[in-house]
Amino acid sequence: MPFLHILVLFASTFKIHMTKRLSLIIIPSMTEILKINPTTALLTPVKYRPSPHHDERPQNTLIDMIVVHGISLPPGEFGSNAIEEFFCGKLDSNSHPAFASIATVKVSAHLLIRRTGEMIQFVPFTKRAWHAGESHFQGRTRCNDFSIGIELEGTDDTCYEQTQYQQLSSVIQLLIRAYPFITRDRIVGHADIAPGRKTDPGLTFDWQYLKGTFA
Ligand SMILES: [Zn+2]
Repeated sequence: MPFLHILVLFASTFKIHMTKRLSLIIIPSMTEILKINPTTALLTPVKYRPSPHHDERPQNTLIDMIVVHGISLPPGEFGSNAIEEFFCGKLDSNSHPAFASIATVKVSAHLLIRRTGEMIQFVPFTKRAWHAGESHFQGRTRCNDFSIGIELEGTDDTCYEQTQYQQLSSVIQLLIRAYPFITRDRIVGHADIAPGRKTDPGLTFDWQYLKGTFA
């Protein structure tokens, strides 16, 4: 192999490793800054936009699962406030042709992580957000009862941003500490609990990388 090719190969390999190493260094410090307020079950310092689309979890239900989702509104577009409006029941049905059929749909998630890494919480973790729909996991149905739903701004066929993985990893580490029945194999995608009906967060989501960022 010519020397130049070896050099390019080395450089690209080195860059990938550097990126991943860098994220591993950044994540613990971000985890130190981020906290879950034990009284409110809200992340701080994170924007909280209360959604009416939630209710109480069934009595004596342990929170023991995280469901990762992908969403974009309008579909395939990033950067608008439409997801936020949608989860709060305030989506303007006239502002985009795609919104007419969904504006009155009552759904939410506990948390949204935007492409920029910005996070917005909609429902306290102790409450039941409406993100999973008809779903089942290891013989149990109604996954909303016992899970925390985290939405990533994205689509099934677009790579998620590095900063989204970093934020997601930080939040997951905090959630595992706060709700110790959440184990590694109980961090799943929407597609895993609603197969045939849902495909998010999509095949581009790198589970191996995500799970490699925490012990
Ligand atoms: Zn979903």
